Amino acid sequence: MAEADIALIGLAVMGQNLILNMNDHGFVVCAFNRTVSKVDDFLANEAKGTKVIGAHSLEEMVSTLKKPRRIILLVKAGSAVDDFINKLVPLLETGDIIIDGGNSEYRDTTRRCKELQAKGILFVGSGVSGGEEGARHGPSLMPGGAKEAWPHIKTIFQSIAAKVGSGEPCCDWVGDEGAGHFVKMVHNGIEYGDMQLICEAYHLMKDVVGMEHDEMAKVFQEWNKTELDSFLIEITANILKFKDSDGKYLLPKIRDSAGQKGTGKWTAISALEYGVPVTLIGEAVFARCLSSLKDERVQASKLLAGPKVTQFSGNKEAFLEDIRKALYASKIISYAQGFMLLRQAAKEFGWTLNYGGIALIVFLGKIKDAFDRNPELQNLLLDDFFKRAVENCQESWRRVISTGVQIGIPMPCFTTALSFYDGYRHEILPANLIQAQRDYFGAHTYELLSKPGVFIHTNWTGHG
Ligand code: NAP
Repeated sequence: MAEADIALIGLAVMGQNLILNMNDHGFVVCAFNRTVSKVDDFLANEAKGTKVIGAHSLEEMVSTLKKPRRIILLVKAGSAVDDFINKLVPLLETGDIIIDGGNSEYRDTTRRCKELQAKGILFVGSGVSGGEEGARHGPSLMPGGAKEAWPHIKTIFQSIAAKVGSGEPCCDWVGDEGAGHFVKMVHNGIEYGDMQLICEAYHLMKDVVGMEHDEMAKVFQEWNKTELDSFLIEITANILKFKDSDGKYLLPKIRDSAGQKGTGKWTAISALEYGVPVTLIGEAVFARCLSSLKDERVQASKLLAGPKVTQFSGNKEAFLEDIRKALYASKIISYAQGFMLLRQAAKEFGWTLNYGGIALIVFLGKIKDAFDRNPELQNLLLDDFFKRAVENCQESWRRVISTGVQIGIPMPCFTTALSFYDGYRHEILPANLIQAQRDYFGAHTYELLSKPGVFIHTNWTGHG
């Protein structure tokens, strides 16, 4: 009795919410979970009164599905995904589709794609972003893998996804093999960067300008009406003005030591692995590492001196506008670096990536416009809109950094973004000296500007 449009395995918070979302959009979903009692609990509670059906075994689940069968896994990343795949394959037929919506490592997804292709099963690794709220009311979805699966899942995916602009879904086919999970990883990395940039702006407002929480909250609220409009800016305003039960602001009571789950670190590792200068995400990860050395920092704060200048003497309103522009310019650099990493990954793995679609799903409409204008765009900074935006911000950006440096405020992401910009726009960098040093101490040879590709060695010391 084939009645279900799709099955979903994994009835934790993400799976339950995604099922209810699909149900709202008219799809019949069959629910399954390793601990089978959770199926009955779900049907009797959260899914009561819906069209959701349940299964008590994988065999039963598969028997409810229309063909080609579509099965989403939303289980803990790692061996749980492989275990379910191994159990499902004998129950499926050629052309059936398995989708992994968990936070799997992109290399695992590539491996699973290849293994399942050999067995005639279409495997899709899809990034799912937006947490439980997103899963329930509209996630960003980043599917990649076996493209033959896309026509069979497109309608479901695009109807349940979040919508932007004039109703465009935050979901499009991303690319081959593990590309969906790679894009999700970079997306999370970009979020690390955005969060750290906001922290640096907050640090400057608090310790350079000397602002109170309500005042800072108002500034972030205003910024949310500008190019900086985003979920993170919005929640920062709410966090800043939030008062604890004792009537005092909660934020200053929170320990200044940030943890991490690892996706930012994975992005930085990939950047190092493929030789792409994704410096801002790297610095954002290191900033969290430094923050977690709380005890050491407490000791060091008593021993290490900072600069003599600790007072800001400029115009407050003008400086706040400078910070806003520094944040915007740095964010553009971060997005440009993220796209550089995607480009390099595509080259490494031979993936064809849908850059415009990716931009719309996880970045900004403005970035999609840039790729619509030029699908071959080498770097976001070379697009006219972003080039002008950074140029318009750069004086402010430089003022913020020099003021912060003078007063001794750490701004790892603001500064690395500007260094990247200055490095990228320099025709000549001092790496000629590195070539010479390497040749001097290790006879590694060097190239002349006038003869690229020809490697020569010089006897720098004159000794034999
Ligand atoms: P989760 O806590 O990551 O995983 C719980 C689910 O995995 C349960 O259904 C559990 O079954 C199953 N499971 C765990 N180990 C298993 C094993 N060895 N074999 C078979 N099943 C196993 O759940 P979640 O937070 O809803 O996340 C689901 C996936 O989405 C994860 O990959 C997560 O990283 C990703 N994700 C989460 C979020 C979020 O905001 N939470 C956002 C995006 C993506 P039992 O009930 O039997 O234990």
